[in-house]
Amino acid sequence: MRRLDLRHVLGEVDAEELEAEQAEHLDRALRYAEFLGEVLRGSPGWWAQDAACKGYTRTMFPEHGQSAEPAYTLCEVCTVQVQCRQWADETGNAQGGILAGESERNRRSRRVEERRAA
Ligand code: SF4
Repeated sequence: MRRLDLRHVLGEVDAEELEAEQAEHLDRALRYAEFLGEVLRGSPGWWAQDAACKGYTRTMFPEHGQSAEPAYTLCEVCTVQVQCRQWADETGNAQGGILAGESERNRRSRRVEERRAA
């Protein structure tokens, strides 16, 4: 069901754009729910309980045009970053968000560099 959107009513966005935007929001919410489910189930390990990002759902998965800086800041002060990074590397389970102070692209580049150096 399509939500009422003032921009659509005012003719600022057409129905197709609105639908694409809403699908993207839903996709992000589902990806983050999956990530949080992993964390809350404790499957990554004891460290997930101490994650600084707990409760900061939208921060860790910044939307298009939204700054990722707050997410990086949380990771910077997080006491379990080492464990988090190891988990992300082992499972590849970043779900498109910022994890252990890295975006998915950063993580892939680092891993390529690490393999080259090995
Ligand atoms: S390092 Fe970042 S993503 Fe990982 S648990 Fe800590 S705050 Fe969350």
